[in-house]
Amino acid sequence: MSDRRLAAAAAALLAIEDPTEAERVGARAGEVAARLGEPAGAAVRAGAGVLDMAARLLAGRPLAALAPAERDWVCGTVAARGGGQLLEVLKIPMLLAAGSERLTRAAPGTQVAPAHRAGRVRPDPPLDCTNARDWPSSTTADAVVIGSGAGGAMAARTLARSGARVVIVEAGRRYTTAEFRHRAPLDRFLDLYADDRGAGPHGNRGITIAVGRPPVLLVTGCGVGGTTLVNSGTCYRPPDRVVTRWRQPFGIDMDGFGALLDDVERTLRVAQAPLDILGRNGLIALAGARELGWRAAPLQRNAPGCGGCCQCAVGCPRGAKNGVHRSALPQACEAGARIVTHGWAQRVLTEPWLGGRRRAAGVRALRPDGSALEILAPTVVVAAGALQTPLLLRRSGLAGHPGIGCGLAIHPAVSVAGRFREPVVSWSGVLQSVGIEELHDQGILIEATASPPGMNSFVLPGVGRALRHELDRTDRLAFLGAMIGDAPSGAVHGRRRCVVRYQVADQDGARLRTAIVAMGRVLFAAGAREVLSGLPGRPPARNVGDLAGIVASAPLTALHVAAFHPTGSARMGADPQQCPVDQAGRLRGADGVWIADASVLPTCPEVNPQLTIMAMALAVAGRAASGAAPTAQ
Ligand SMILES: Cc1cc2nc3c(=O)[nH]c(=O)nc-3n(C[C@H](O)[C@H](O)[C@H](O)COP(=O)(O)OP(=O)(O)OC[C@H]3O[C@@H](n4cnc5c(N)ncnc54)[C@H](O)[C@@H]3O)c2cc1C
Ligand code: SF4
Repeated sequence: MSDRRLAAAAAALLAIEDPTEAERVGARAGEVAARLGEPAGAAVRAGAGVLDMAARLLAGRPLAALAPAERDWVCGTVAARGGGQLLEVLKIPMLLAAGSERLTRAAPGTQVAPAHRAGRVRPDPPLDCTNARDWPSSTTADAVVIGSGAGGAMAARTLARSGARVVIVEAGRRYTTAEFRHRAPLDRFLDLYADDRGAGPHGNRGITIAVGRPPVLLVTGCGVGGTTLVNSGTCYRPPDRVVTRWRQPFGIDMDGFGALLDDVERTLRVAQAPLDILGRNGLIALAGARELGWRAAPLQRNAPGCGGCCQCAVGCPRGAKNGVHRSALPQACEAGARIVTHGWAQRVLTEPWLGGRRRAAGVRALRPDGSALEILAPTVVVAAGALQTPLLLRRSGLAGHPGIGCGLAIHPAVSVAGRFREPVVSWSGVLQSVGIEELHDQGILIEATASPPGMNSFVLPGVGRALRHELDRTDRLAFLGAMIGDAPSGAVHGRRRCVVRYQVADQDGARLRTAIVAMGRVLFAAGAREVLSGLPGRPPARNVGDLAGIVASAPLTALHVAAFHPTGSARMGADPQQCPVDQAGRLRGADGVWIADASVLPTCPEVNPQLTIMAMALAVAGRAASGAAPTAQ
């Protein structure tokens, strides 16, 4: 796909009149499409081609040669003839690219907005990282941990503190706060959500489109620190009902879990977000909830020194957010753990063991040039995240249990925007700032969630000059997001490339609709003049009744659903038929292989999951370190 067609599509969809700007946005959208992978990337490129073809058929000239009014007419005709979904797909990379350009322009002469340059920057803590290129081809350790994210970091710390020689193998690279300060948000976005191989043969893409109706955008981070590098810093403990469910019927010993959560909170330095940095987006959420008499408060976060620059999703430019790269990993390294970066674990090595079983023998990882390194160890902790762990187990010949890859919950999310008379400037303040828990007992958790410009503007209706009009007024929009505790409706397939299937269950679809209306209520109560539901082709709602009608009349497939919290693809539990991982955290059927990431959570935790994953990893690693638990059957 030539950049010219993408530039023409950008000019048409976003009514960009300046050809140089259209070229810049088109080129950036092309980069986004390339990172999306197939089939999403192909759909973007094909969509631009189809739009150009439509211009030739309808107007007799290529899209690039049309005047703004003609481009609008072509887009309108395409939408009216059933191409609305195509335009919606095309809008996402275009808006991301345009948002990035806008932010760049916001600070002439720099690549970042002034908010990121101001304030104190916390220095990066020391980490013992070695590029796989420089790591010997054959080494030994007492334990190898695969993945340096939420689960892997905590597991490595426990093992290292027990005196074991620990090596962490991480596919991504180490990022520094200096990079986050000096690189444009979109560049960071494109890097942080994929490993260095990007679209290469071992690509560990962090942007996945789950196949289903509707398709769901799923994102995960990649780098030293895993998804905690890009997460919003929200820290929730799992609700009691979830802990009770994991005790029974899953048979997991949750007695010491509270103390492990305390440990995680201390490690991450969790505290409530102060009011003065929330930003107007959060204050509006608080005001709306107060007006309704709903339970709401600033969120607990692991970001001491946060300056409220709304960049958490693309790496904190102040070093304020205590992801595991700034907390558990430095502590693990202090206790002797070493991190091999750019090392993609190809397989867990095993050897025959008693009774026809197998036991862990180490890890084989590939360097970016394709050469292999082996780290031999009797204990292997797999923590590659809920989307990659099942693939790794398959590649290792350890996926004999039919439950591996099944049982995926994603905590699906929808968002809405409210338009206010006064400027909100949602991208100035904490990215995820306030929690509204009124409907949490029904599994619906609302959080005031803004983003850097462009990253959530897909709620904006229309295309062409109508969309441009909306974009020019985005500073008046306040954003809320809601996640619902879902059924395990998904599965992770594949050995190298991750393919996710996820079908929103009927009851979850109903809750997503309830969530949209509830968010609308908060925004109207706070004084919003209208609410944008993000449903394609639907006008902004003027009141709650209006919004309820719009939502009720839209098919489930019209919902823009995204997800950030995949869990449960290798469930832990006492039932050997249902759960591939035993209640101690061991993979059934292979001695010495432990799982310590989001995969093991038996059901959706119904909250942002990092604390829960970390505490569970501490529990699993504690057992792995003591070796006291009996062998899994
Ligand atoms: C945008 C976003 C915002 C979020 N915000 C929050 C929040 O505010 N609060 C919250 O509680 N949760 C949040 N989350 C979710 C939370 O960060 C994750 O659930 C958590 O980090 C998952 O932990 P994990 O250990 O399972 O996997 P990860 O943290 O994803 O770590 C897995 C690591 O394994 C590596 N890896 C994968 N495959 C291989 C391989 N073959 N070889 C070597 N390494 C490999 C990956 O590169 C990665 O570094 C957010 C997630 C996203 C995407
Ligand atoms: S808002 Fe996020 S990125 Fe900005 S300083 Fe706070 S934690 Fe860091």
